Amino acid sequence: MSAAGKPRVLLMHPILDPGPAILAEAAEVVPYPPDRPLDEASIRQAADGCVGIVSQVMDPIREAVLSTPGLKCVSNVAVGFDNIDVAAATQRKVMVTNTPGVLDDTTADFAFTLLMAAARRVVEADSFTRSGKFRGWAIDMMLGADVYGATLGIIGIGRIGRGVAHRAKGFNMRVIYYDPHPLPPEAQDQLGATPVDLRRLLMESDFISIHVPLSQDTHHLMSTPQFEQMKRTAILINTSRGPVVDEAALVEALKAKKLAGAALDVYEREPAVHPNLIPMSNVVLAPHIASATTRTRSEMSAMAARNMATALRGGRPPNLVNPEVKK
Ligand code: NAD
Repeated sequence: MSAAGKPRVLLMHPILDPGPAILAEAAEVVPYPPDRPLDEASIRQAADGCVGIVSQVMDPIREAVLSTPGLKCVSNVAVGFDNIDVAAATQRKVMVTNTPGVLDDTTADFAFTLLMAAARRVVEADSFTRSGKFRGWAIDMMLGADVYGATLGIIGIGRIGRGVAHRAKGFNMRVIYYDPHPLPPEAQDQLGATPVDLRRLLMESDFISIHVPLSQDTHHLMSTPQFEQMKRTAILINTSRGPVVDEAALVEALKAKKLAGAALDVYEREPAVHPNLIPMSNVVLAPHIASATTRTRSEMSAMAARNMATALRGGRPPNLVNPEVKK
């Protein structure tokens, strides 16, 4: 508690309006020093005396941090929560919340942006033009792959995966998907998406877009055996989490032309990017910005702040990841 009688909350990184005002009403906000490293020991030390932590994807919130005496809630400003050890939090009766729903369309838009950019070589074409290499129309210049009418394979048909399928409809794409929890038949029909096993998805897709959460099950879901099964003309798009793709295996597969290209928003060891990806002109690289629009990042900030405020007031936050903590 602060002198003003408000519970203390550690804010790991600044959030966008109206998040700070919502948070300030319920808590005394303690900003994490921006120059301090993001390791567990440093976060644990900064969390001392705090009942809440507002975290983001780059913050490791594991056993050491979760053992902070009096900690009640960790509110992640993201839909993914693989940076948090939820099992350890549940054991310590610490609530964990996320921000689902508000970023679905924005993230699906970006997955499609990456798909289009890679298919039609937009980034490569931009640097080509800027560097003065454009000397006039040529029949064989910058030939790409057609998106319209192609087959899109979606791995993970959750909120964002469904958003991508919906967009693909407008491009007259054939949509197949792999998910251990298939959609009900009506939803499937409405989306025009056909469930297949992973092997068939890999073999038939011209574009593969990944939308699974990172877990033990999905770690390196895409590695050498999967790349071997892809069409040599196919393009891989990843806006989920970096470790879902074995980055070293992807580099090798691209070098061996097992697939035609990739478009990535996320990386195995962020912010590091595999150095061999950098010079590859058939790879589009973005700095983890799939949810980065002004409106969506502001809604994520507000949602995370509301989740924390509700927890601090003794309520059940609407986006509780571990509901067993608050029966
Ligand atoms: P969601 O929970 O609605 O959907 C995930 C889907 O993946 C579910 O249908 C689930 O059954 C399926 N799934 C789980 N394991 C699977 C497996 N082994 N194979 C195939 N499918 C599997 O989640 P969502 O809101 O759509 O978000 C998905 C993920 O996208 C998040 O967990 C997050 O990590 C990532 N994400 C990234 C960004 C970004 O900025 N790049 C933005 C938003 C979300």
